[in-house]
Amino acid sequence: MRRKPVLLLLSTCVFAGPLAAQSALPTASSADRVEAHALFKELIEINTTDSPAGNVTTATVAMQKHFLAAGFPAEDVHLLGPDPRKQNLVVRMRAAGATTEKPVLFLCHIDVVQALRSDWHTDPFEFVEKDGYYYGRGTQDMKESDAALVATFLRLHREGYKPRRDLILALTADEEGGKFNGASWLVRQHRELVDAAYVINPDAGGVQLDHGRTIVADVEATEKVYSDFQVTATNRGGHSSLPRPDNAIYELTAALNKLAAYSFPFELNEVTRTYFANLAQKETGQTVADIHAILATPPDLEAAARLSAEPSFNSNFRTTCVATRLSGGHANNALSQTAQANVNCRIFPGHSPEETRRQLIGVFNDPKLTVKYVSDAGVVSDVAPERKAIAPPAPIKEVFDPLTRITQQIWPGVSVTPVMENGASDSIYFAQAGIPCYGYSAIALERDDDRAHGQDERLPVDSYWKSLDFFYAFAKALGDE
Ligand SMILES: [Zn+2]
Repeated sequence: MRRKPVLLLLSTCVFAGPLAAQSALPTASSADRVEAHALFKELIEINTTDSPAGNVTTATVAMQKHFLAAGFPAEDVHLLGPDPRKQNLVVRMRAAGATTEKPVLFLCHIDVVQALRSDWHTDPFEFVEKDGYYYGRGTQDMKESDAALVATFLRLHREGYKPRRDLILALTADEEGGKFNGASWLVRQHRELVDAAYVINPDAGGVQLDHGRTIVADVEATEKVYSDFQVTATNRGGHSSLPRPDNAIYELTAALNKLAAYSFPFELNEVTRTYFANLAQKETGQTVADIHAILATPPDLEAAARLSAEPSFNSNFRTTCVATRLSGGHANNALSQTAQANVNCRIFPGHSPEETRRQLIGVFNDPKLTVKYVSDAGVVSDVAPERKAIAPPAPIKEVFDPLTRITQQIWPGVSVTPVMENGASDSIYFAQAGIPCYGYSAIALERDDDRAHGQDERLPVDSYWKSLDFFYAFAKALGDE
């Protein structure tokens, strides 16, 4: 996944974050930049798609070599995974001496979405610098952060930096698709290697620009859980010249119409509450009145209903489920024996897929229908997982304070806002394991230039250097805590 703007912002509003002094950050030296540039180029030019031409292990082995050559001890550089082509790399920078603080994990997927040469103006697996941009598959999602963090770890090691707690970097497979999701596998099979106080995942969040003007820096502080459900109506069928009241297609569509009319209960959590409180300062008119009304105790549900007309608000308020696929029947002149729909749900943190499956059964209220869970791998089962993403705590100060400070040193005046992502990233596997996750890329993109997964993916050159400065300062700040 990659950052998607989730804020609905009025173009006229002015953002007055606390004004920081002009950047006093230590910026990368030209030698540091040469190294970071070479790493970025190397990663872009290794095809890590989930396809016959792609191989994640080629990329993780290449990075492993850099860490070993730089003098990281072999026992702190782990190459591992369930498939020879999908090896993950986990690198640990050890704390100086004994520490009671849990580590910080930087979680970075190293795979990319497929890209076809015929769709692009340049070769997607060639690192091209043109007109102030770096072009190539993964320049936005998310090899820029992979490269910046590898460069940061190498630089900190070279400078003899000793954190007060371990810093871990995991470069993982199959976030974008494929059978061997590295984040999920690592947290289940090798928790000892990736266990952390919290996770920083640069696969979300970032700085939004509007014609070069800094709009907002959003930090994903929680995300919804993705789940698919298969809804099936079956019938003995028969000849279409002899219709009967019982009919698989009608029963399924009646159920889906009930879903269309249904809204899951309105909810707020610490993250969305903060988000809407911040937004209230920037909105006007009925919207601001409605936002205040939903933040009251008890919340005003009529105000929530009005705000829910905006899909991004609605999605931030509740679990959503929507029919996304439909199939049924076997002949034009026969009564259907099967009618089936896929219902895709984005589950509000604190609820499990199984709880949601039972809610769907309640909404459909038709015992003739079955509602089954469909896993990411497409496996259908009668019940869904009980695991839920933890309801997020208030954003951790030890993460947000340095994140805000350093962001405002680089982009003076920008406001930093925690958000709930309506999509999904690898953070979910750690959130389900009880580890808080924060999504922040530290890259600045024009709001209308989101090209993740698309053609001619590109990153402003300047944005890469700023993210490099950010991660260096941020890793040090977290390491010093
Ligand atoms: Zn991504």
